Amino acid sequence: MTDYDVIVIGAGPAGSTVAKIAANAGYRVLMLEKKASCNSPCAGYVGYTINTELPENCAIQSRITRMRTYFPDMTFHDFPLNGFVVDRPSFDMALAEEARNSGVDIRWGSPLTDLTPDGDGVMFRGGEASGKIIVGADGVFSKTASLLELSRQDIAVCAQYHLKGIEPLENTSEIFFNADYAPGAYAWIYPSGPDSAKVGLGITITSSTGGSRSVHDYLDAFINESEVANRLGGEKTEYTVGALPVGGLREKLCIGNVMLVGDSAGMADPITGAGINNAILAGEVAGKAIINSLENDDLVLLTRYERQVRRLLERPLTRSLEKRGQMNILGTPNEVLQERLPELWVTFKEYWG
Ligand SMILES: Cc1cc2nc3c(=O)[nH]c(=O)nc-3n(C[C@H](O)[C@H](O)[C@H](O)COP(=O)(O)OP(=O)(O)OC[C@H]3O[C@@H](n4cnc5c(N)ncnc54)[C@H](O)[C@@H]3O)c2cc1C
Repeated sequence: MTDYDVIVIGAGPAGSTVAKIAANAGYRVLMLEKKASCNSPCAGYVGYTINTELPENCAIQSRITRMRTYFPDMTFHDFPLNGFVVDRPSFDMALAEEARNSGVDIRWGSPLTDLTPDGDGVMFRGGEASGKIIVGADGVFSKTASLLELSRQDIAVCAQYHLKGIEPLENTSEIFFNADYAPGAYAWIYPSGPDSAKVGLGITITSSTGGSRSVHDYLDAFINESEVANRLGGEKTEYTVGALPVGGLREKLCIGNVMLVGDSAGMADPITGAGINNAILAGEVAGKAIINSLENDDLVLLTRYERQVRRLLERPLTRSLEKRGQMNILGTPNEVLQERLPELWVTFKEYWG
């Protein structure tokens, strides 16, 4: 059995960030990825924040300078934004490549199947390895979390087409609130070029409620029947479906020598669904805590990760979770959305009041 200092489960933005930082400090890092390559379903919006450095080989599809949010009656509100739409597979593969260049041993097509009984290693398809620290960066349906017997997270289910031969609004991410098409969430159009866009939507399903119509049906209805259907007649070149956590941060992010980072820890925003920036931010904090812990040969120091991440993310995520709770209580029919959207959506000042 090969020995590592750190074993990272999942080669998404959270996993590659942690792995790279630990490997750059000279530690032996293994990263296990279930799939043969990165291809998480995503609209690919990355906010340009202080810690955002887009990896070199990632394909930027468009620059975003504003968000246009539509009420159910199609009146809208514009808000300045600073970000990019990236091709998500190339973004994730570029981050994984950076990790590999830092010395991370990456095993593709190698899903985690179990943790060793004494907790100092993992079993995966094709082998096993021992490691002092294990990082669960394996997304919303985290196998790591389920092996620790943590509960399943509340989720939004999302579907998206890549449409070619349409004319999206330049530099604009468009967000549509309408309970007929995206109950409990919203639909989006994100330009991926001058004549193409990613068009998708989310619907929320909590552990206690279930929807009757599929997310695919809702998306087809939005594309074929909504007020913007006449703009969305292009060729469908790609369909993806996925989920993201909307229940906020897990109660514990660090359990013994196991850390949870990114969607596995509930770090996507429960209202906007954005999770890439938080995954990278938390990955950086986790990487530094790992170095500190290994340098001092003291696993208790890993708990600094939890404290620091809570300091950074707890307030915005808690506010967002409260808003999600209000949406769930109100049920958000269109009359309610029309009147109360400013309290519920991040680009309005009422949200922050
Ligand atoms: C349709 C859709 C659109 C989205 N659009 C945006 C957006 O525009 N902007 C934004 O910021 N966020 C968006 N999100 C959310 C964003 O994708 C996530 O928050 C983000 O990917 C979280 O990163 P992560 O590294 O934690 O997890 P992930 O990116 O999910 O990476 C987890 C990795 O772990 C791997 N894995 C899973 N199980 C195992 C296992 N057992 N063993 C080994 N590996 C495993 C997976 O294959 C995956 O590669 C969207 C989500 C969806 C579903």
